[in-house]
Amino acid sequence: MTDARAIAALTKPGSRVLQLGAGFIGCIIMEALAARGVDLTIVEMGDRMVPRMMTEKAGGMIKQWVEQKGIRVRTSAGVKSIDDGDAEAPVKVTLSTGEVLPCDVVIVAAGVAPNLDFLAGTSIATGRGIRVDNSMRTSVEGVYAAGDVAEGCDFFTGEPLVSAIQPNAADQARVAAVNMAGGDALLPGVLPVNVLATLGLISTSFGQWWGMEGGDNVEHVDTERSRYVSLQFKDDVLIGATSVGMTQHVGVLRGLIQTRTPLGRWKDFLMANPTRFPEAYLGCQQSASAHLA
Ligand SMILES: Cc1cc2nc3c(=O)[nH]c(=O)nc-3n(C[C@H](O)[C@H](O)[C@H](O)COP(=O)(O)OP(=O)(O)OC[C@H]3O[C@@H](n4cnc5c(N)ncnc54)[C@H](O)[C@@H]3O)c2cc1C
Repeated sequence: MTDARAIAALTKPGSRVLQLGAGFIGCIIMEALAARGVDLTIVEMGDRMVPRMMTEKAGGMIKQWVEQKGIRVRTSAGVKSIDDGDAEAPVKVTLSTGEVLPCDVVIVAAGVAPNLDFLAGTSIATGRGIRVDNSMRTSVEGVYAAGDVAEGCDFFTGEPLVSAIQPNAADQARVAAVNMAGGDALLPGVLPVNVLATLGLISTSFGQWWGMEGGDNVEHVDTERSRYVSLQFKDDVLIGATSVGMTQHVGVLRGLIQTRTPLGRWKDFLMANPTRFPEAYLGCQQSASAHLA
């Protein structure tokens, strides 16, 4: 198909569009396509939408929301082949499940990865990105990396992590610049921070939202109102959180995680009432102020 025909199909309400991938970028593209009124099918190989950012329940809730808006979503399904079609449709897509979908356009939103080819044959250590320490130094003296191309250290585990979001790029760039100019700046590590709007449904995940072995966790699921909170703890410290359908105060979850605040008695409060995290946050701040006074 020519570019012009593909663009015409994308701008025509009712065109059959198949999008491969329901990750963060896929959801942004989906939003634009839905606004154009195309007949959209999303195919995601994970068992839920946004599987690399959302818990099973949260991703399932987003899927349900999107389906209610008239978008077909096929999870746990990959694309097996894309073939020329016939008079009925220019393209036929066969899924790993055996389903065959006739469509006008196929969009691939299957993720991004740093292009490291230009480093082949150098001594710069790479993994999924260019390996850097918390000062943004690579394995070669005098060479720094920052942003989407850099693989830093996870805030909690210290494990290598590429976090392709703008605030991370800006923080890493500042630290790299200070150190390149002879300063001594350090990042505390890379903290995953994800905020997503999917056809009007806001979802977030922060820190080690998937939890840890031996850690405590609590979930609040309100399917009817599309509201959800999951909190993950290590001892009395909040290390990760996921929310769906909450637009107010979710930033305090990030604050508690990033400051590694010991929750004390507020942990039991949150285990019993996970949606009441703003109160726990205020309680911790007040205890800290009283302690200082
Ligand atoms: C569709 C989309 C939506 C996004 N939405 C969000 C969001 O809502 N919130 C958020 O926090 N983040 C978002 N991001 C991620 C965010 O854009 C990136 O994390 C951020 O731009 C990373 O900055 P960077 O400088 O590392 O890389 P980039 O912004 O990609 O900049 C790299 C630049 O280098 C240039 N370049 C590449 N190779 C070479 C070369 N060999 N020589 C010279 N120049 C080269 C590129 O052309 C590019 O201009 C989004 C990304 C996409 C794609």
